[in-house]
Amino acid sequence: MVVVDNKGLLTINEIFYSIQGESTYAGRPCVFVRLTACDLRCSWCDTAYAFHEGSKRSLDDVLDEVDRYGCPLVEVTGGEPLLQEGVYDLMQSLVDRGRTVLLETGGHRSTGRVPETVVTILDVKCPGSGEAAKNDWSNLERLRPQDEVKFVVKDREDYEYARDVIVRHDLGTRAAAIHLSPVHGMLNPRTLSEWTLADHLPVRVQLQIHKFIWDPATRGV
Ligand code: SF4
Repeated sequence: MVVVDNKGLLTINEIFYSIQGESTYAGRPCVFVRLTACDLRCSWCDTAYAFHEGSKRSLDDVLDEVDRYGCPLVEVTGGEPLLQEGVYDLMQSLVDRGRTVLLETGGHRSTGRVPETVVTILDVKCPGSGEAAKNDWSNLERLRPQDEVKFVVKDREDYEYARDVIVRHDLGTRAAAIHLSPVHGMLNPRTLSEWTLADHLPVRVQLQIHKFIWDPATRGV
């Protein structure tokens, strides 16, 4: 399911300026462009409002709004941003405007057409998401030096799954960073940290800092 809009429009859920809460860019001011629609239904998804809500907007209109924030860092996210054909022109246009562009993707859609200098933050879905069968493993073979990998971990089974993937795909030497992120409110970060230390994993335990700064139920943060 890739959405091709005949008029070249993007379906945008929201554009907002906030603090980046994840990845090695965490803590930096960032403009977020959230695209509508996702073909997964992760059990712990915190952006279900992006499944259907959104408005059609031209590329120029989106770029104008991003420009107004004057921020060098932009994240393209969703939903699943790679479902819309127009996302490639959006990412390339942002790169051409000198932005550092992050792409947050669910890991089930090919990253083969992502512009060369974009930083892909690639989710690998663990069993607790209910969507692990959809992982496109070729994305791990396609990692570029700047790309980062993220596992959202709900329980011990998810942790062991992530650990096995990290070892099997040699991610410690092939990704710019590997993030283990406990499901907010479902797995104690201390427990995940203790497992990580016991196994000497080459990862970063990552908390979604925007959920500590702002009310976790608030959109657009
Ligand atoms: S891929 Fe992302 S947006 Fe889609 S259901 Fe999973 S967490 Fe939600």
